[in-house]
Amino acid sequence: MKKRIAILGSTGSIGTQTLDVIEQNPAHFEVEVLTANNNARLLIEQTKKFNPNTIVIANENKYNELVDALNNFPVKIYAGSDAIAQIVEMDNIDIVLTAMVGYSGLLPTINAIKSGKTVALANKETLVVAGEMIQKLAFHHKASIYPVDSEHSAIFQCLVGEGKNKIEKIYLTASGGPFRGKNYDYLKKVTKKNALKHPNWDMGAKITIDSATLMNKGFEAIEARWLFGLNPNQIEVVVHPQSIIHSAVQFEDGSIKAQMGLPDMKLPILYALGFPERFKSNFPRFSFWDYPELTFEKPDMKNFKNLSLALAAMDKCGNMPCIVNAANEVAVEAFLNDKVGFCQMTDIIEQSMQKIDYVKHPDLEQLIKTDQETREFTQSLI
Ligand code: MN
Repeated sequence: MKKRIAILGSTGSIGTQTLDVIEQNPAHFEVEVLTANNNARLLIEQTKKFNPNTIVIANENKYNELVDALNNFPVKIYAGSDAIAQIVEMDNIDIVLTAMVGYSGLLPTINAIKSGKTVALANKETLVVAGEMIQKLAFHHKASIYPVDSEHSAIFQCLVGEGKNKIEKIYLTASGGPFRGKNYDYLKKVTKKNALKHPNWDMGAKITIDSATLMNKGFEAIEARWLFGLNPNQIEVVVHPQSIIHSAVQFEDGSIKAQMGLPDMKLPILYALGFPERFKSNFPRFSFWDYPELTFEKPDMKNFKNLSLALAAMDKCGNMPCIVNAANEVAVEAFLNDKVGFCQMTDIIEQSMQKIDYVKHPDLEQLIKTDQETREFTQSLI
């Protein structure tokens, strides 16, 4: 039986790599649903190649372009973000891979979980904003969440076969990004062009900036907390510039298991889609002889303050991670549009954390309100 896949965000970096993985494994997977935010041209191309049952574009202005181009094609076409949130409930889907950018992943992920679908989670912001709620919902609806994020895939792989053995702590590895070792004076002058060049990973623009500021690692700590049911003090960030060890788990006997490989998102994508099986791949293999040194260092939380802000939000919990996420999304977009500098992104996030009302046990409605209020406040600073 082939697994039927819905890809939310099929035209982005993870989406296109997921389609590559599916194309290389036609005996195991087929594409059932594709959704995109705005890129109608690529969505049309993907539809012709992968023959999905249904496609959705979030931007309603692009609907006619899809209908015209796919006139004689046996595909159902919808538009709007409500349609994306609803489409995940379709019976003919086995796995929903969530690869949209940022907060927009929240409602579709909630609906996928509520309809008992297996979620391959590539949208970490969903767990940053509403991790506690998502964890409870997944338990209640018996929905599995398999991580696509490489660090979390590593931890997930280390836990296979461990049954009820407890995790003592996890080591979340970080490359350190393109500005590792730089000081505040250097960071102040960093341009968009420098920041978009990641040393090891080829990713979308938003996550590449988050990696350069280390916000990404703070978000990943929050993501790990909810995925694996950890306390914040069980999570340690380790900078490992070669990105070969993708993360590690330490058990109560002191033994550490780590997962290794070349940095290539296709591996965690294939693992999440294939779980519990491992399928053969032709990805380039790691060679020990190419890496005589694997090195490790502590993260620089003084110059890369976004990491400490995100970890503080994890400790504080409630709606605080939601505030940080919304402020960060607005700040990163402003940075990408040359409206604020690299270090100003941190100031904007910090001010939002102080300004927006804290709620200890927010429900979904309160999280949506927090997100809106934070975005309005943050915009007013730019
Ligand atoms: Mn990651």
